[in-house]
Amino acid sequence: MRAWTSPVVPRLDLEPAGAVHVHDTATDALRAIEPSGSARLYVCGITPYDATHIGHAATYIGFDLLNRAWRDAGLEVHYVQNVTDVDDPLLERATATGVDWAELAERETELFRTDMAALRVLAPEDYIGAVESIPLDVELIERLLERGSVYEVEGDLYFDVHSDVRFGGVSRLDEAQMLEVFAQRGGDPDRPGKKHPLDCVLWQVERPGEPAWDSPLGRGRPGWHIECSSIALRYLGRDFDVQGGGSDLAFPHHEMSASHAQAAFDGLSFAHAYVHAGMVGYQGEKMSKSKGNLVLVSRLRESGVDPMAIRLAILAHHYRSDWEWTDDDLAAASTRLESWRRSVERTSYDEVVDLAGDVRRALANDLDAPAALAAVDAVATRTSCIGSGAGSGDGSGAGSRDGSGAGSRDGSSAGSRDGSGAALLRALLDARLGILL
Ligand code: ZN
Repeated sequence: MRAWTSPVVPRLDLEPAGAVHVHDTATDALRAIEPSGSARLYVCGITPYDATHIGHAATYIGFDLLNRAWRDAGLEVHYVQNVTDVDDPLLERATATGVDWAELAERETELFRTDMAALRVLAPEDYIGAVESIPLDVELIERLLERGSVYEVEGDLYFDVHSDVRFGGVSRLDEAQMLEVFAQRGGDPDRPGKKHPLDCVLWQVERPGEPAWDSPLGRGRPGWHIECSSIALRYLGRDFDVQGGGSDLAFPHHEMSASHAQAAFDGLSFAHAYVHAGMVGYQGEKMSKSKGNLVLVSRLRESGVDPMAIRLAILAHHYRSDWEWTDDDLAAASTRLESWRRSVERTSYDEVVDLAGDVRRALANDLDAPAALAAVDAVATRTSCIGSGAGSGDGSGAGSRDGSGAGSRDGSSAGSRDGSGAALLRALLDARLGILL
């Protein structure tokens, strides 16, 4: 499947950044992620039945910070994302609105691409649809069948979760918690004939009026969790670095996807770390399609909001926190963006070198964007206080690296003709935060 056009990431004329630490749900600890060779990232994509809301945008911008941190550390990044372009919620929406399910999926996927490009999220190297990955699912299910991890209930194929001894290791929930969440998030714990209530469907036999594909498993369609196992294994291989998504995916989705892969291959860990973004609320509830309380990125853009202000509003919250979107978020981000744009030409080169250290340290510490933003604010405030004098804002030294502005932090020569940090500051904010001034 075609992804969107990725923005070009400027290379910073600085020493490479250090290792990134992120919170791993499976160990509930901050872990240094130090990929060997290229960094491998899988982030679960959308089910395209409705437009991108701020909650989605926050998740993908959160992982975009990781992608950018790795690149700044000099690593190649292989980023894979899926699109669940056939699944129950999509089919239900298509039926309810009288639209062809494939047309609905393509239309909403295209809107998502446009939103991601506007928000300057780096595109995945492989953007893979559920439909196009069905042969990969079938291959993996056949392997699980050979290994005795699969059984049949009225034609549907189920995964025996206990065939993976490490089942439960991603979310760290106990069985009672798992059962509760499984029922809430699309599972079928009470279906008669299952060996264990938590066992999940791998292949669903054709239902009347639903799309189905011929396969050696019979005519039907795959379950959701196997899709991400097979795509990640095919495109990233085993033991890839980070499996990411919203915190509502930790169980059952990431737990099941990891277990499918771990049951299929001995000794394999699906991913090194499982990283989860928080949930975004609106008007007192979690933002979700089912509740209808969505703030859509496309609607904000249509109303003339600068996508950089949307991105900055999201970056003001730590990716792992649960937070609530308000109109104040956008107003504060617009003010901040203006302040940064006003001060950029007045910033000295040495000041930006120091700032780069602060920004990199903040982002290496579990992608702490709010701390990075505060560091930029401090520089912007300082330069706007001292930059109102003669010579400020002329920008004539942009890009100069002669260092003649050294020692300017007493304020006397910041923003002077020599040693401007404007070019480096623009590159830093672009490369690390995805913010184009
Ligand atoms: Zn997934």
